[in-house]
Amino acid sequence: MLNQSHLIDTVAAYKKDSRKHFNEAVAALLALAWPYRKEGFVFDPSFALYDDALVLCMELSDKCEESARKRLQQAIESLEWDGEIPEDAEALESLDMAGTHLLDLLGVWIGVAAVNGWTESYTRVMVSRYLSNPFLCPEWRNIPLSTLAWGRGYARDIAEQLAIIGQGIIISGARYAEQQDEAASGATYYIRRRGSYYDCAVCDDLAGKPIPIGVPFEIPHPRCCCFPEYH
Ligand SMILES: [Zn+2]
Repeated sequence: MLNQSHLIDTVAAYKKDSRKHFNEAVAALLALAWPYRKEGFVFDPSFALYDDALVLCMELSDKCEESARKRLQQAIESLEWDGEIPEDAEALESLDMAGTHLLDLLGVWIGVAAVNGWTESYTRVMVSRYLSNPFLCPEWRNIPLSTLAWGRGYARDIAEQLAIIGQGIIISGARYAEQQDEAASGATYYIRRRGSYYDCAVCDDLAGKPIPIGVPFEIPHPRCCCFPEYH
């Protein structure tokens, strides 16, 4: 069985990893584009260093994936089972998408910085300050919405997205490994217990009922802290 608080600690540690990777990517992308800043700047194929920018985004999602895998290994180190945890293709694709959405977001910031005469370091501060909602930044209010490549159907807070996706990789991977471990030692069913007061009807409904060992542990929402008791 997994140690629940150890799992929660590794999930929290990954969040810090991903934030560090995010900040580094923002700094690198701003540095790359800084000499080219102008009103209405966009990272698109006409930008001289577009390929370099894409590489930085890919590095960001790769580093998040790597950190999530590393933290996952830490989360399950107490288990006997040492089989292969299947790759979550959907999560990896979401990490890549979050990485490239960063280009669209930063493009807008670089245009705003150019118009307002901001320094590079001040721009970094502003990106970080308004991460969860750039539209709250007064200088964003002057941008005609129709000119924004960014924002339609995207998760606004990209750092939070990177955190949630990686945390999902860790939690679902760890629960998978735990289940394999318990099945190998003869468990036949498990009972879900709620590990937090997070308001989730699915978690409420699944809690307390016996579930056969062959049924994968469901994770209905990000950072689900529910845990299984194996029998
Ligand atoms: Zn839950």
